[in-house]
Amino acid sequence: MPKCQNCGKKWTWGQTACRLITLGDSLRCPHCRKEQFLTAAARKKTGTSVFAAPLIMFISVAFGIDPFASLALFAISFLFILGISPFFIELTDERGPMW
Ligand SMILES: [Zn+2]
Repeated sequence: MPKCQNCGKKWTWGQTACRLITLGDSLRCPHCRKEQFLTAAARKKTGTSVFAAPLIMFISVAFGIDPFASLALFAISFLFILGISPFFIELTDERGPMW
């Protein structure tokens, strides 16, 4: 789980997942309210995984799988990615370069 670089407290899975859904470029620490940013490495990881869910859906559509099943597959893979993302996230208190 990510750790706040300002107050040093660890974020819980729920707090991290909530902040990831908001899709802003900054994540506010639930403990000290200071803005935190994803490290370049963490951004690369989450950026790649964000494309995985729609990709899975397009592949299943291309293979002639039922649209409803594809949609369910998309939802499941999205939830799965969201579920594991907090484990790969690292925080920094400085807004770094984009890549
Ligand atoms: Zn903090």
